[in-house]
Amino acid sequence: MQIIACPTCEQDVQWDMNHLQKLGERWVMACEKCGDPFFSVSEEEKEMILAGIRLTEAYVPDIIHAYDSEDVKNLPSRVGFEEIKKSN
Ligand SMILES: [Zn+2]
Repeated sequence: MQIIACPTCEQDVQWDMNHLQKLGERWVMACEKCGDPFFSVSEEEKEMILAGIRLTEAYVPDIIHAYDSEDVKNLPSRVGFEEIKKSN
């Protein structure tokens, strides 16, 4: 879940794909403050997005949590960009 600024009233609203509401043929996320449906997808798009989120949660390691639990002082601090320099 993320907090975004509503494009209409610019107040902080929760961005949560699990809170999509069915509105006719579309799935919308409405601002909890002004009620503006600032995000709208079709059934197919919603399924694709949710499938993408599930894939991400299943297969992408939790980098932030990994860094939290690591002693980062012991990790190499030098980062190289040699490949990028060569291709330039
Ligand atoms: Zn709003």
